[in-house]
Amino acid sequence: MNELILIKLGEIALKGLNRQSFETVLVKNIKRRISSLGGFSVKTAQSTVYVTPVNECADIDEAEERIKTVFGIAAYSRAARAEKNMEDIVNTAAEYLFDELSSAESFKVEAKRSDKKFPLKSPEICAELGGSILEKFTHLRVDVHNPQITVYVEIRDFGAYIHTSARRGAGGIPVGTGGKAAILISGGIDSPVAAYMMAKRGVELTAIHFASPPYTSERAEQKVKRLLEAVSKYSGRINMITVPFARIQEEILEKCPEELFTIIMRRFMMIISQRIAQDNNCEALITGESLGQVASQTIGAIACTDEACTMPVFRPLIGMDKEEIITVSRRIDTFDISIEPYEDCCTVFTPKHPRTRPILKFVKAAQNELDCDSLVEQALKNIKTTKIGFDLCEES
Ligand code: ATP
Ligand code: MG
Repeated sequence: MNELILIKLGEIALKGLNRQSFETVLVKNIKRRISSLGGFSVKTAQSTVYVTPVNECADIDEAEERIKTVFGIAAYSRAARAEKNMEDIVNTAAEYLFDELSSAESFKVEAKRSDKKFPLKSPEICAELGGSILEKFTHLRVDVHNPQITVYVEIRDFGAYIHTSARRGAGGIPVGTGGKAAILISGGIDSPVAAYMMAKRGVELTAIHFASPPYTSERAEQKVKRLLEAVSKYSGRINMITVPFARIQEEILEKCPEELFTIIMRRFMMIISQRIAQDNNCEALITGESLGQVASQTIGAIACTDEACTMPVFRPLIGMDKEEIITVSRRIDTFDISIEPYEDCCTVFTPKHPRTRPILKFVKAAQNELDCDSLVEQALKNIKTTKIGFDLCEES
């Protein structure tokens, strides 16, 4: 049986003149995602990507699992290829869909003829294939409105393809078509989801993590790496940059009013992140903030935080409820890691009564009590970089 995976392009089909370059990136991303699985050819024609095994080692089940994580794919189907004649189409459909047709009670056939040279029109293909299926599977009946199984036949340039209903792909647009941005990642539930959501919009990610040893442990940092590994199944390679943050936090604690601790700390995070982002060709920052979730995520606090940097800051979770965020985190397999109980640098020093409406001029005045520039330079001097996940975007 000639089985393959047919991939339907998502939004990229709408991108007009950019379409060609989007398709090229998508094909490259699919190739890289399945490159370790043995031989597959990956080709595009007529808004469809064909992923075809070319040798015995090609593992199509695993290829399907990986394809589910590639952004830019609206839907995909596993399909059997038949020759473009009705006899082969009937035999292939009966053999390939034997189990489904045997266990269903009703079915219908839908045909699409993109190769107009094929002698039968779509309704004729449906009638002939439907009739032959009924002869072979006598328990079945046709139900055009509510069938248990729909047999699709697509007559295309390179052959006839037979499959059942398509499955949903990861959606979004291909990673590498949306520029580069830096995600501020903690070990919590929200920021890995924010990273995933921006990768889904085509953004290539760099990750910045503030760690505060000795107040935070090596295991807390390992947890962040595992979170990023889970995200990288979708986003491809992520460079994780770890910034030592304890010194800055100690200084703020010592020299600034306690109720402004969080906001000043967050401003330092933005200042340092912007520098790292610029050094890594990122054009924006991403955080996992959601409006009103905690004191530092009120409109006033966010305005005060943003004032510390000039880059755009994306907050894809801003309007989401915790439950909605958790639903995504379970789906992308970060939830169970996120709830492991290791301290984040933000939680070790949390003040009891943080300001929910900080006034910028007081925040800045308090921050000016610190030697901001040298603290930032000191932290930047001691960053370390770890490569996470497989390489999706760079040229090989
Ligand atoms: P999360 O679940 O992502 O930790 P949170 O609800 O705990 O979010 P905060 O602790 O206020 O919220 O953090 C808000 C955002 O700030 C996070 O989503 C993340 O983008 C960033 N952030 C927090 N802590 C860190 C850290 N240690 N390193 C880098 N970024 C951080
Ligand atoms: Mg957190």
